[in-house]
Amino acid sequence: MILILKSDTDLGSEEYRLLLRYLGTFGGIRHEVRHIQGAGQRLTEIYLIGDTKPLSKEFMRSLPCVRRAVRVQEAYRFLGRHGDEAMQHGFEYNGVTFDQDSLHVFAGLCAVDSREHVELMMRALRDNGQQCTRMGAYKPRTSPYSFQGHGASCLPYVFDLAGKYGIRVIAMEVTHEGHIDEINEALERTGQPTGVMLQIGTRNTQNFELLKAAGRQETHPVLLKRGFGITLNESLNAAEYLASEGNRKVVFALRGMKTNLGDPHRNFVDFSHVPVVHRLTRMPVCVDPSHAVGSRRRSPDGLLDLMHVTAQGVIAGANLVLVDFHPKPSRALVDGPQALLMDELPIFLEDVRIAREAYRKRVALARRKAGAA
Ligand code: PEP
Ligand code: MN
Repeated sequence: MILILKSDTDLGSEEYRLLLRYLGTFGGIRHEVRHIQGAGQRLTEIYLIGDTKPLSKEFMRSLPCVRRAVRVQEAYRFLGRHGDEAMQHGFEYNGVTFDQDSLHVFAGLCAVDSREHVELMMRALRDNGQQCTRMGAYKPRTSPYSFQGHGASCLPYVFDLAGKYGIRVIAMEVTHEGHIDEINEALERTGQPTGVMLQIGTRNTQNFELLKAAGRQETHPVLLKRGFGITLNESLNAAEYLASEGNRKVVFALRGMKTNLGDPHRNFVDFSHVPVVHRLTRMPVCVDPSHAVGSRRRSPDGLLDLMHVTAQGVIAGANLVLVDFHPKPSRALVDGPQALLMDELPIFLEDVRIAREAYRKRVALARRKAGAA
């Protein structure tokens, strides 16, 4: 069972002490306190672990400081919604709110190749009102002979430039626990000019030791990609590894499934699962149209497949869009053929706004219908 406390409950108050003392008297049930920093308010949840069946929700709700009591199903203990639509979701990081109601575009380089390209990218983002980006420094590649990313050596200029152009959050893949330390050292050395959301790629969705390491630290949120060849349930359990270690700032990313049935797209687009993940969990959901589609093919209506697919994710309520851009795709060292061009950034963002507006209207319509019923 989870007890959700009244927002901004004073942890030094007599009421709160009374509650904890009372919970301590339950035989065979231990409790764990978790704090969630949301936009503007701190929320406290208390997890009761053990045989809680005899406890009535109504009684637990009547205890001091308690706003709601939710019965937890075994699956997705920390990240699940447990059938409760009003559950608190999301988190705030470096001044940016990530939840199931917000939408942020993370346009950027699949792989950092040169300082010049990073600067061109970041300047374009600033000029288009963006505060998030993607920048790959550690690249997991199919062939050991392909470019593996510049690694720690590029971090100082990437972070400095992010600070210069007002970028608050960079999604950056890590493939090894040591990369988290390197990122922390570089942030420290450059004076914390930006924030980093640690990305765990589809090849590492079930790298449990990496998940535990990213879960043990609570400084950086984690963007976890769905595994390309495993079930949704298996990928959501991977997210739960992060949360069970302590880090509840987790974003779940859909990036398509590996199967020839998705041809000619690089992966079979699975963005119909955006609302499913919203329903099952409290995580914000990201879509990655670039790695899903994998090309710049255009349909006869004039729109790139990449933009159609992005719109499909956004119109279904996606909260982040992770998308590859490059100033000179022919010179990109990774995934140039799927990169959008700098001068396509404004139209891409406008297209996202149109799809988002349509999503908002659809939600309003559903609410009006439900209210009238
Ligand atoms: C990426 O986003 O750069 C990437 C490698 O994605 P994925 O893990 O989804 O293949
Ligand atoms: Mn890539």
